[in-house]
Order: sequence, then structure tokens, then C-alpha cells
Amino acid sequence: MNESFPSISSSSSSSSSSSSASDVLMSFLLSLPPSSFSALASSLASDLRLLRSRLALLLLSPAHFSRALSRLRSLPLPLKSLLLARLLLRSLRLLLSSSTSSPSSHPHRLRLLDLDAALLLMAMCDSYHPHRPHPHPVDWRSTVAAHALSSALSPAALGDTPWAVLGPYVDLAAKCPRFLEVAGSSNGGGKMGEGARAAVAAVVALPSVEYSGCEEGDGGGSRECAVCREEMAAGWQVCELPCGHRFHWGCALAWLRKRNTCPCCRFELPTEDVFAEIGRLWRAVVRIGGGDGTSCGGAGRASRGG
Ligand SMILES: [Zn+2]
Ligand SMILES: [Zn+2]
Repeated sequence: MNESFPSISSSSSSSSSSSSASDVLMSFLLSLPPSSFSALASSLASDLRLLRSRLALLLLSPAHFSRALSRLRSLPLPLKSLLLARLLLRSLRLLLSSSTSSPSSHPHRLRLLDLDAALLLMAMCDSYHPHRPHPHPVDWRSTVAAHALSSALSPAALGDTPWAVLGPYVDLAAKCPRFLEVAGSSNGGGKMGEGARAAVAAVVALPSVEYSGCEEGDGGGSRECAVCREEMAAGWQVCELPCGHRFHWGCALAWLRKRNTCPCCRFELPTEDVFAEIGRLWRAVVRIGGGDGTSCGGAGRASRGG
């Protein structure tokens, strides 16, 4: 059986980029106020119990394992990549939950069935080393079990510190830049998620404000809508993006149907495109952590989460 995986293993040339991604995440976590940090650790503790119990169920129940494995095998490579992307996005969202006001329900939530398949796929990617001898065909259950056991017994996973809880999420989220890099290159060199439209929920939540006629910022009080170049009359209801820039409602809606960035400052709104959303949240992590940013499909644009 010829298995095809999205290649995100950090065992190859990517080890330096994934360790700098871990550094970015560490400085992000260290920048959190102590109260947010401990709140984050305790909210992640219950999620980690869920992840571990799903993985344990997969490994302890042969029927469950083979169901998840045959489901994975039925998926073409792009859908396997999407599954991993959703797992990575989930970990980024959870890590960022303390520093952004994320909506209570979002379109990227994983159903339990998908979560199991994604966890299994990630465990397969992590435990498989192409240069090491593996039996043929690979006995995935024992390969994944051996890897799960060794990582459960690693010093970082032991003990009752917040870092023992955060570690697995940092490990997952640190794969994001490398993952987007690989997914982008398999996409013909284009950046994944480029041109993604703004999430419907984010657009619906945009406030309507009365245009006063003398706006601050924006190059000294522009009365012009940057989309249509026509003046906005005082007293009109206009659309305000979270960055503060204002546009005619019709212009903003037409623009955000195609893109998730502000026409003036490229502030990024949430998007339903999983890959673009990973890029957006990763840039937010880089910005909050004060890092210089590793490559993640685009310039370090201003981005507010949520
Ligand atoms: Zn306009
Ligand atoms: Zn703006």
C-alpha cells in the first residue's frame, strides 16, 4: 500500500524553521499576562484530555482504528491536507483564545469523526520516518502506538505544569508555517488562501456608523470611499471595518465578497478559507509575540484576531 502524506514532518530540512516557529509561539505565550496564561492552561487542560482520550480510543480499539484508517485511505491527498489544516487551525485558535475575543461558534469546528481522522493522520505523519526501516506494509497501529507512548513519557509531557498542557498545542501550531509552505508549493507555487473572501459571520458583525464628514486618520481626513473613489456624504450610514476605515456599505460588501483585507491598510478579517485563516492567525501570533515572523504566505500584515 502506497501511503501518500502531506509532508509536514519536521525531521527533514524544515527542522530549523519549525524550531523558530516554536520560538515565535513561546514568545507569544510569554507575552501573555500571568492571569491569561493560567486561564489558557486550564482551558486547554480539558481539551487535551479530549484529544488524548480520542487517540487512546483509536489505539485501544482495533475496530475504531481500522474504521478511521480506511476513512483516511479513502480521502484524496488534498482532503487529507485539509484535515490536517483544520487540526492545526484548531490548535492555533485555542492558543489565541485568551488574547482575542473569538466568537463562540465558528465554521472551523471539527466534528468528532473528523477529529479522530485528523488526530490519526497527524500521529501517522509524526511517527513515520521515511529513512527508517518500517515493515511492509506498515503496521500503523503499532507504529502510532509506539510513538504515542514515547511522547507521553517525554519529560515535557510529564508533571503538572502549565507547560506540560501547552506543549502539545505548541508542537501542533509550530507546524503551521511549514504546512502552509508545503501546501502552497503543491498548489503550483501560489500562496494558499490568497484571495479568500471574508467570513460571512465577520461581515454580518460589522457595525454601521453615521459618517460625520470629517474623519480622523486615513491620510488626513479623507471623505472618499477608497473602493469607488466617490465622496461619502455627512450623515450617511457607512460600514466601519475593525481597523477604523469606513466605506459605502455597497462597496464594502462587494469588496469583502472577494477579499478579507481592508482596501486601505490590508487589515485582515476572519475568513472561512482554512489555509488563509491559518496564515491570518499565525501573523497575529507573530505580531503579539513581537517576533520577526517566519514565512507564512504573505507579509506581516496588521491583523486582529476574532
Ligand atoms: Zn464607495
Ligand atoms: Zn483599514
